Amino acid sequence: MNKPGVYICGGCGMGQALDTAKLSKLAAGECKAAVSRVHPFLCSPEGVEQIRQDFAAGAVDAAVIAACSPRVKQEAFRLDGQAIIERVNIREHVAWCQKPNDEDTQMMAEDYLRMGVVRARKTEPPEPLAEPVSRTLLVVGGGMTGITAALEAAEAGYQVVLVEKEAQLGGFVATLKKRFPVLAPYTEPASDGIAEKISAVTAHPRIRVFTSAKITRTDGQPGMFDVTVAQPSGCVAPETPGSAEEHSLKAVLLRAGAIVLATGWKPYDAARLGHLGYGLTPDVVTNVELERMAAAGAITRPSDGRPVESVLFVQCAGSRDKDHLPYCSSVCCMATLKQATYIREQNPEARVYIIYKDLRTPGQYEKFYRAAQDHPLNFLTKGEVAGVEKGPDGQLAVTVTGSLLGEKIQLNVDLVVLAAGMVPNAADGEAIRALEEATVRSVKAETAEQRADAARAAEQLKHHAGTQILNLTYRQGPDLPVLRYGFPDSHFICFPYETRRTGIYAAGAVRAPMDSSAAQEDALGAALKAIQAVELAARGRAVHPRAGDITYPAFFLQRCTQCKRCTEECPFGTLDEDEKGTPKPNPYRCRRCGICLGACPERIVSFKNYSVDMIASMIKAIEVPEEDEDKPRALVFMCENDAYPALDIAGMNRLRYDASVRVIPLRCLGSLNIVWIADALSRGIDGVLLVGCKYGDDYQCHFTRGSELANQRLENVKETLERLQLEPERLQLTQLAIDEAARLPALIEGFMDRLRKAGPNPYKGM
Ligand code: SF4
Ligand code: SF4
Repeated sequence: MNKPGVYICGGCGMGQALDTAKLSKLAAGECKAAVSRVHPFLCSPEGVEQIRQDFAAGAVDAAVIAACSPRVKQEAFRLDGQAIIERVNIREHVAWCQKPNDEDTQMMAEDYLRMGVVRARKTEPPEPLAEPVSRTLLVVGGGMTGITAALEAAEAGYQVVLVEKEAQLGGFVATLKKRFPVLAPYTEPASDGIAEKISAVTAHPRIRVFTSAKITRTDGQPGMFDVTVAQPSGCVAPETPGSAEEHSLKAVLLRAGAIVLATGWKPYDAARLGHLGYGLTPDVVTNVELERMAAAGAITRPSDGRPVESVLFVQCAGSRDKDHLPYCSSVCCMATLKQATYIREQNPEARVYIIYKDLRTPGQYEKFYRAAQDHPLNFLTKGEVAGVEKGPDGQLAVTVTGSLLGEKIQLNVDLVVLAAGMVPNAADGEAIRALEEATVRSVKAETAEQRADAARAAEQLKHHAGTQILNLTYRQGPDLPVLRYGFPDSHFICFPYETRRTGIYAAGAVRAPMDSSAAQEDALGAALKAIQAVELAARGRAVHPRAGDITYPAFFLQRCTQCKRCTEECPFGTLDEDEKGTPKPNPYRCRRCGICLGACPERIVSFKNYSVDMIASMIKAIEVPEEDEDKPRALVFMCENDAYPALDIAGMNRLRYDASVRVIPLRCLGSLNIVWIADALSRGIDGVLLVGCKYGDDYQCHFTRGSELANQRLENVKETLERLQLEPERLQLTQLAIDEAARLPALIEGFMDRLRKAGPNPYKGM
């Protein structure tokens, strides 16, 4: 056990609001701190030097710094980077939000101090993981995104392996006639520029390219992914066991430190757009089919090869449609405007009709839209295509309702082009289709039961509908888990390239619908994340959101009952299993969220500075007043990522709230072990409030599923409450975003009102 010193700051108004001398006395007396000092400005060079000297003299081996929030002054209090430092937030969470020089305010600071000393005493010095890692990056997909990611990483000095399933690099962009305008005045389509990039990649000394190749297996973890790449070969001995297809493949085993998944997209299945005339005649084509026609030469009527004199584009063909793709693919409007220029180049007199729900041309693309709109032979109108039928002279008769002309109109045209959306090039059809259908059912569900059914089906499918491209040997499946529409992505607000597999970053249209310009930016971002991943792995440190953390979970497996909760609940697939079901950690995959710690009923998962025992001891350190003192106590578990900083912001804004609460930050609400709730309630604490990130499809949880898992675990706590014969009102979980600090005082007051109504916890004093 450590011998912590306590250092109390009297600056920033703390000295005026609190009796710091009394706090210091408590530290030296009841808390048995090895040293207890008060400094008027602890973060000043002299204040920090005093702490250093105590360490150097061997007077202390851990420091409890009772001052500002741990989110600030990190550099000042880092000392040598190795010292055990426990920050006790008596500024934002006490002095700035409570009545100055008040008994309850002082009691709050004292409890926080007690909790901090207990935690510092139990913290062990962490040691980073230290295995040799590979800094080679694997880029999967040789389209614009993959090529850009490979080039950028190679230019930054990293070795890159680029794997492409087709015989040629270039992907979809290489099939285009032109791309969207990229230079001022943004009124003309541009050259695709892909040929130059392909040459640069193939000539680059740090990039190794595999074409006609697929990945048959990905083992391992960040810093040490062992990847099997299969390429066609005729040199396998005929007597080798395996199928003819396997015989024709040669396997190459590679080691990579991180992976960029850039597998692009495919067009939405037009066979499902029969209501817009697809399949009626060959003269109804998709935007991708028209692009191929344009790239190959003249655009003609496919049915009879006649020149095209009139074309009608149907926007959002199957997009923003609950029966098809509920989302906007963001590129189809621009693709149509670009293709209208192809028609006009070929036949300046051609009539072009564009029927849209909205035309979405963000940023500089608006100028391209205006240029198209200004052309006298272009007819753009908001409207709904009600039907496409065979018309006179081999033309197509298109009925449009709800147009800006205000009436039903019929247009006879040579060609109908369906602006179909983008589907991530992630899985082969069936699984994605089933996922889409489950999603559609969920969107259309009328009752809560139907919604729950569809959500369950979608959740199950997500784990089977991922890429099937990397063929991961993870216990949780070979695919990247996907979001609602089949895009692999873990945290859409803060970490856009993240997937739920650490060290694997999605970029380009496989991550979200986007055009090739956006995909190039995305490639750069994902390449940087991959570089960060290998560099952090090389130092044994976590990637974001706990970037730089050197702690990792240790499993005391002698007591493991093989219940598999940790292996199932870890959102990042960190834990594989042996044949008996005992977890096999892959610590470099770990994001240090502590969800496994919360999941484990045997309480055998712990970090050097975060454990079930440590938090339980902090709970025990809270002084619970007797019933007749009329001072209720509530414990608040707060997610460190959003809720805790929101409480800091409340402090900065001097928002006052009930002084009966005691806050314990958690790495993630998912790291909540329900034994802490039982501990708190059986000690006489009147209630427990959990504040975590938003969950559900539009989740904001930094560990994707943590707050949702905490909510599920609360179901089990209800049994504990029943056993203790306590009211369910004593427990509440609330979702809160970082920008909702203003909600906190009312939230806390509301919870305390509930507890006051429920009356004192009968376990007080027991
Ligand atoms: S649950 Fe979190 S802490 Fe535990 S192994 Fe998984 S990523 Fe690591
Ligand atoms: S949750 Fe705990 S007991 Fe269950 S398998 Fe994991 S380590 Fe073992």
